[in-house]
Amino acid sequence: ISSVELTRNCLDRIEKIDSKLNAFVTVDREGALLQAAEADRKRSRGEGGLLCGIPLSIKDLLSTKDLRTTCGSKILEDFVPVFDATVIQKIKNEGGVILGKVAMDEFAMGSTSETCFSGVPHNPYKRGYVAGGSSGGSAASVAAMECLGSLGSDTGGSIRQPASLCGVVGIKPTYGRVSRFGLVAFASSLDQVGPIAGNIDDTARLLKCISGYDKNDSTSVKQPVPDFSGFIGKSIKGLKVGIPREYFGEGVDPEIAAIVENGINILREGGAEIRDVSLPHTEYCVAVYYIIAPSEASSNLARYDGALYGYRDNKSETLLEMYKNSRSAGFGDEVKRRILIGTYALSSGYYDAYYKKASQVRTLILEDYKNVFDECDVILSPVTPLPAWKMGENKDDPLSVYLSDIMTISANLAGIPGMSVPGGFTRKGLPVGIQLQANHFMEEKLFQTGSYLE
Ligand code: GLN
Repeated sequence: ISSVELTRNCLDRIEKIDSKLNAFVTVDREGALLQAAEADRKRSRGEGGLLCGIPLSIKDLLSTKDLRTTCGSKILEDFVPVFDATVIQKIKNEGGVILGKVAMDEFAMGSTSETCFSGVPHNPYKRGYVAGGSSGGSAASVAAMECLGSLGSDTGGSIRQPASLCGVVGIKPTYGRVSRFGLVAFASSLDQVGPIAGNIDDTARLLKCISGYDKNDSTSVKQPVPDFSGFIGKSIKGLKVGIPREYFGEGVDPEIAAIVENGINILREGGAEIRDVSLPHTEYCVAVYYIIAPSEASSNLARYDGALYGYRDNKSETLLEMYKNSRSAGFGDEVKRRILIGTYALSSGYYDAYYKKASQVRTLILEDYKNVFDECDVILSPVTPLPAWKMGENKDDPLSVYLSDIMTISANLAGIPGMSVPGGFTRKGLPVGIQLQANHFMEEKLFQTGSYLE
């Protein structure tokens, strides 16, 4: 099959189902077909990269040259970037075809994609249920076979959680593995770009393409990029797998616990050594994250003032009024809530009590992991305590949504890689993922273990 045919199939499917699914914010039919034709030309000359001719969707938080990038927010409704994020440039260099941009929680703040201004993606397995978030459009578009893979971003679980809820594979790489240049910043010390795809193999290929040092991101790391695919299917005999007891407490849905238990048994039968381990500071990770992430966000989001780009209120008489009115009308409630929390936590007099304290506990969370990785190769756990829930269910209860992030956010606080791999389905037919975490720059262990579970 040619790339043009494949791309056309995806575009036709998007046209047919996306008015109901709501995964896409912007579809670039013309651009995608041009890229596909170019990929076919390259292939016929025996050229073309690792992704040559493969149709992909991109989270609308990544800057794409000449293609609208909204971040799921009204404030950037008409924003068209003048440059490509490094990861987009890399995808293009490898011949990938970009179908369009997909839905997400506004500025990636959320776990359901329900705050996306342009429409809320449904769970492809059950209409009316959330696809997860914030990279809900990425996971839904892959699961509904509108594309072959996607790029998302993960600040506290936003790749792994929607991948789990939609039954696809998602990986958050080690902090510094993938360039953040052109990823619109939410919480800069936690954000990472990563792939979502239908299987481990495709995820490994996508990650290989986007990884590597970038001089435009001062936190990207000069570290060789392994051939992740080479670890797929490798024996797990003797692999040490830690099961953190703090992740199996009350609040974990029994069906999820059973699916994860089944995953543990599969690894045990494959010759892995299963160990009971402890990450004692897990109970503080939600509190720490919801100080650090909003603090960084309140600073990062100061740039949306109506002056340089994005929505501007034209009726204001003074500059200050223009700032106020543009931000009041442009941002949604959740974004405003985070800006308020972050501004408060960073204000003089409160800084020591909140931000500084949270940063200190963050170090303890990192040390927990260090101790466990002294004796284990990977950590296995659920991704979320609950499967996908009904849209609107937690609308007036942001705190309970924050709490549902408990199993994913500590990986971001520590900067380690994490993967969600499909584990099974609930009786209602909702997918459930299994989470694997590994030490810094040990993504290959995730691929090795994940492929055994797949
Ligand atoms: N759900 C978390 C939050 O709302 C994580 C989001 C993310 O990873 N971008 O902040």
